[in-house]
Amino acid sequence: MTEPDSLEAKGLNFVEQEVLADLQAGKNGGRLNTRFPPEPNGYLHIGHAKAICMDFGIAEKFGGTCNLRFDDTNPVKEDVEYVDSIREDIHWLGFDWGDREYYASDYFPQLFDLAVRLIKEGKAYVDDQTSEQIAEQKGTPTVPGTESPYRSRTPEENLDLFMRMNAGEFAEGSRVLRAKIDMASPNMHFRDPIMYRIINHPHHRTGTKWKVYPMYDFAHGQSDYFEGVTHSICTLEFVPHRPLYEYFVNELADESYCPRQIEFNRLNLTYTVMSKRKLLQLVKEGLVAGWDDPRMPTISGMRRRGYTPQSIRNFIDAIGYTKYEALNSVSLLEHAVREDLNRIATRVMAVINPVKLVITNYPEGKVETVKLENNPEQEGSGEHEMPFTRELYIEREDFMENPPKKFFRLFPGGEVRLKGAYIIKCDEVVKDADGNITELHCTYDPDTLSGMPGAARKVKGTLHWVSAAHAIDAEARLYDRLFDVENPAAEPDRDFREMLNPESLKVVKGIKVEPFVAANAERGRKFQFQRIGYFTPDYDSTADALVFNRTISLKDTWQKVQSKQ
Ligand code: ATP
Ligand code: MG
Repeated sequence: MTEPDSLEAKGLNFVEQEVLADLQAGKNGGRLNTRFPPEPNGYLHIGHAKAICMDFGIAEKFGGTCNLRFDDTNPVKEDVEYVDSIREDIHWLGFDWGDREYYASDYFPQLFDLAVRLIKEGKAYVDDQTSEQIAEQKGTPTVPGTESPYRSRTPEENLDLFMRMNAGEFAEGSRVLRAKIDMASPNMHFRDPIMYRIINHPHHRTGTKWKVYPMYDFAHGQSDYFEGVTHSICTLEFVPHRPLYEYFVNELADESYCPRQIEFNRLNLTYTVMSKRKLLQLVKEGLVAGWDDPRMPTISGMRRRGYTPQSIRNFIDAIGYTKYEALNSVSLLEHAVREDLNRIATRVMAVINPVKLVITNYPEGKVETVKLENNPEQEGSGEHEMPFTRELYIEREDFMENPPKKFFRLFPGGEVRLKGAYIIKCDEVVKDADGNITELHCTYDPDTLSGMPGAARKVKGTLHWVSAAHAIDAEARLYDRLFDVENPAAEPDRDFREMLNPESLKVVKGIKVEPFVAANAERGRKFQFQRIGYFTPDYDSTADALVFNRTISLKDTWQKVQSKQ
């Protein structure tokens, strides 16, 4: 934490600058309290991560606190499964709300009391019209709305009806409570907004106690106030709601303490969708394997896929916070993921599309141990051992019978180094009756292992390999973008499900991994399959049936691999 007075506005984003100015002006007694307000109607996605980094990050930066507040005002869509997942995801990102976990439903009594007060003061009325009728009377930004025929009801009648609404006397949709503000306001949100509606569905926390539930606009600002939130930071679509936020908050606050709303731009990512409604549809219709499917833009999906919290936070830092909507390139996120995994992933050998390689002049039954560096980016990360034998597997794409010029991998008569081991030369190609290559017969130069006189001998290509007898079979799940359209949200005329990328998941069975990988395939472990990409064990992986998710392919390889993966 840094003292507000010692901080300069320089280098701060615009939200931080506003907050700093408030702190320096001594507003709210110099307190800073933010909140992250998810509605528990789905799993969090990377857009939420941007809000989380702002809400928790700014509190950390200026020595304030951040509440986790579940915005649980619509019992129909909400569920405890979502509450649990939200908690887990925020912790995983590296933030903590301590004992400040709240629920908008905790404030139902106070909100109800405020509604009663506004009714008594003639500032709210019960409207018996249908939602369609109310919508028809809204007008347009340039045409004033029409006043409801129920607008002039007396406070007594309104109070009686509102109490009976909450007693369950009326059907859903038959009546609402509206604020009596101004049907001609240029701000549409001021045209007698709905405060309460009737919902006959048990709430996951309050059960059947309430029959009326507050709307977002009547709940959010007041919840901020009841909690002592000073800065209610949200996304730009709430700009037009801000006057209403202030209108209701002013019914409670005074100059000594008053929460304020500040808005920043949403995170939108290419080749995916960010709408919880659409993500829920993908899950419900089985178009993905669940909320944590590694192709989903959810935090749980990214975790399962092998993304690190640090890479997500670095990405969010890089795109920054502005007042302008933008579409962020997924490549930027992928770059952040690669950078972080490059730093932490253990380098290992795995062959995705194996072909047998036999070293004909290597003794049968002999096993040598070669050493592989665990991570050249990390001092002290050590090395691990790998068995070398007469029969190996290499990547099928690393051999070409009739190579073009500048093909530096294996071809008949050509030489390559096997990473960490010997230089070999291909002598013979063995094929089956259909002409498919089944084996490559090679000879090795016994003088070229590390520490031997010929170790320094240079050849152009270096290949990864595993010992056939020691390699362990595994399954690899190779992911591509979930959608094959850059911005599915910008195509309102198309069903978003038609834009799903049919190639977004490719399952490859029978990949070969070195024994070290199998012995260390615990959940969360990050590997770099050398020359192939970054992989992590999937949740489906077991000791007997290893499954790896490809988190992301390698951009820079230590030897170009034109693999079709
Ligand atoms: P909905 O309200 O439609 O269910 P939502 O995505 O707004 O979906 P909330 O749970 O209400 O979900 O969001 C919680 C917080 O996360 C809000 O403050 C919201 O502004 C923020 N948020 C949501 N989506 C994004 C996004 N794409 N980028 C940045 N912040 C976001
Ligand atoms: Mg929302």
